[in-house]
Amino acid sequence: MVLIGGGHANVQVLKKLCMNNIKGLHTILISEHFEAIYSGMTPGYIHEDFTKEEISIDLQRLCFNAGATFIKDKVIKLDTNHKELHLQNSPSVNYDLLSINTGSVSNTKKINIENSSKYFFVKPISSLVKNLNQIDQIVKNNKNKIVIIGGGVASYELAFSLKRRYESLFKITILGKKILKEKNLNKKTKNDLKRIAENLNIKECHGEVISISEKYLTLKNGEKIDCDLSLISTGASIESWLLESDLIKDEKGFIKVNDNLLSINDKNIFVTGDACSIDNKPKPKSGVMAVRQGETLKKNIFLKLTGKNLIKFKPQKNWLYLIGTYKNYALLNYFFLSFHSQWCWRLKVWIDRNFINNFKFTNNLGMTKRNFELENFKNTLMYCQGCGSKVSKNTLINYIKKNSDNIHLKDSSIVNNRTLQILQTIDHIKLFSSLNPFDFGKISYLHSHNDILAAGGEVKSLSVSLGVPFSENSVEKFYLEYFMEGIRHEADKNDCIISSGHSYQSQEPGITLTLNGEIKSNVSKNSAKVGDLIYLSKPLGTGYLLAAYFNNSDMLSGNDFEKILNNLKKENFFAVNSARNSDSQTMTDISGFGLSSHLIDICLSSNLSSELILSPDILINTNIDLLRMFQSTSFENNHKSSRGYIRISENHPLKNILFDPQTNGPMLIAINKQNQKKFENYFSNESDIKPILIGRFIEKLEKAIYVNE
Ligand SMILES: Cc1cc2nc3c(=O)[nH]c(=O)nc-3n(C[C@H](O)[C@H](O)[C@H](O)COP(=O)(O)OP(=O)(O)OC[C@H]3O[C@@H](n4cnc5c(N)ncnc54)[C@H](O)[C@@H]3O)c2cc1C
Repeated sequence: MVLIGGGHANVQVLKKLCMNNIKGLHTILISEHFEAIYSGMTPGYIHEDFTKEEISIDLQRLCFNAGATFIKDKVIKLDTNHKELHLQNSPSVNYDLLSINTGSVSNTKKINIENSSKYFFVKPISSLVKNLNQIDQIVKNNKNKIVIIGGGVASYELAFSLKRRYESLFKITILGKKILKEKNLNKKTKNDLKRIAENLNIKECHGEVISISEKYLTLKNGEKIDCDLSLISTGASIESWLLESDLIKDEKGFIKVNDNLLSINDKNIFVTGDACSIDNKPKPKSGVMAVRQGETLKKNIFLKLTGKNLIKFKPQKNWLYLIGTYKNYALLNYFFLSFHSQWCWRLKVWIDRNFINNFKFTNNLGMTKRNFELENFKNTLMYCQGCGSKVSKNTLINYIKKNSDNIHLKDSSIVNNRTLQILQTIDHIKLFSSLNPFDFGKISYLHSHNDILAAGGEVKSLSVSLGVPFSENSVEKFYLEYFMEGIRHEADKNDCIISSGHSYQSQEPGITLTLNGEIKSNVSKNSAKVGDLIYLSKPLGTGYLLAAYFNNSDMLSGNDFEKILNNLKKENFFAVNSARNSDSQTMTDISGFGLSSHLIDICLSSNLSSELILSPDILINTNIDLLRMFQSTSFENNHKSSRGYIRISENHPLKNILFDPQTNGPMLIAINKQNQKKFENYFSNESDIKPILIGRFIEKLEKAIYVNE
């Protein structure tokens, strides 16, 4: 099952999977960002009542707890004939069942936007949140005439929250062809909204915008309105990839669904939220509606997968509106009732927090799941554990034919080397639950490549053994292709040939890589000299940070995970080149044994000691509490084998980083003091980060490592 978009409905499907397990089901979520934004709390975020974390759902963590895979990417094409999705940056994905909940975008078909103008779209709401810093900058630069184009209730709530954010800094106008025409708003609510706008000095203007220029907007009647920045909150439409799909749409271009929320012409595709239009029952687009549809969607997906009859979604005719106005005030609208009060704000916060807290997992590990089975489930206990556990021949042949010149399907290849000396290394890493296997393929290659680089080598070829989960058809194909394409993505950069491979099905998916190379420069662990400076090519911390994240620590957000992932995908090739160009002959890659073990090896081989000055700069995440509170499984063993060689205060806040195991960790590089500038300049020219100086080698003393207090 593939879910597209972490909208208000799909997140509820994933939440249900956190508590229920469907045997035989593999779930993938594809969404553009690591975090999904909850629309109801966004105005509160704009006027700084809530933090970004409070209004966001961490999609990677949600997938981890749901047993799903998360792919951060954008779908750009839906091919219903081949049940295939094309993605912007990753290989395509096949589905058996699809759920689309990708929201809507602001409709600007009738507006001519000049390049010189400053404008932002209010929909999707995630883009508004992302662009808020840029809007801050524009307002700070005295570009303070803002026009919100569109006269719906969202424009009023947005105007109120912006007014509070920037206080008297700016002038704001709400400009709409129609103003407050929502039929569910009663007269008192409409009058109150207008009165509050007037009190806050927010202007209201009728008209249809036909063009946006740098300094003004032009209306259909020729009138010009002064404007430095426009926020476009016009009617919704859907993105072109959905419009161009075969799914039947209504006259406004939204995907038509039946009462079960299934596309009316494809019964393998659910569509919910802003993107859908219920056949013969059109309703205004809102987060409330998407949340309500999510309740039916999660039930229907389970019913469909387990072969039962689906239930019908019954849209409400009217619903509760709670619109934030002044600080701690909200306006409540329900049928003919309308109140403007502090208790309305408290009610709003209570409802919104209740929803979003469903998706926070702090200290909520080890939930026991109820078990279900797919309609045509095959018992995995019968899977062969021996040579028969291979990936099926068809999947393999299809992949090989598509991606290599090995058309005769030879079992082995010839790799020509310049010399008889072959540098060889082997590594295996297990797939982290919920991680995109394409990213994992890249990381596994980079992790293995470090061994070749640290030995002064240049990689020539690789052999790979893939462990994919027990699966069939599209799932087996997905893992095989994603793992292989990830490896290929990185290997191609080094002209490394993929010479042979093997695959198997396993409860513990992972990748084993053997890399072959040739020696390019003389590197050894015994050539460090007194006074040589010790550098790291990138920061440390993947071991304990992944442990913390996958223990659902609330000290790490989806953005923090993205930073860890970017670090895991950062190659060391340029760092090693910089070291080689600066005549460094001593380096090692920091792997599962941690910083201390690798540095001790160099000290012992070179007959030296080392002096380290550790600061939070060496950490991927500078929150030292995380380092104190979380440890990866191999921490204890690393500590036991290295502790005796180190002098460090027991209270040193960074002590644990010495023993933290690294996946695709940094290079530890020794640089002669005279070459310091050359190395740093070369490094900075080649890479977007700076090398981190952590200490120097000294004459041999009792211990191998001495750390500053
Ligand atoms: C300023 C403002 C305030 C609002 N306040 C409220 C409110 O208080 N209450 C309310 O009910 N409604 C409110 N709304 C309306 C509400 O934002 C939308 O109706 C709601 O977000 C739609 O929800 P959804 O689940 O359909 O999609 P969304 O919440 O927009 O989620 C769609 C998700 O899909 C992802 N996505 C999109 N395209 C792709 C793609 N091609 N590939 C992969 N991923 C993709 C997006 O990144 C996003 O995570 C407000 C709107 C605005 C503009």
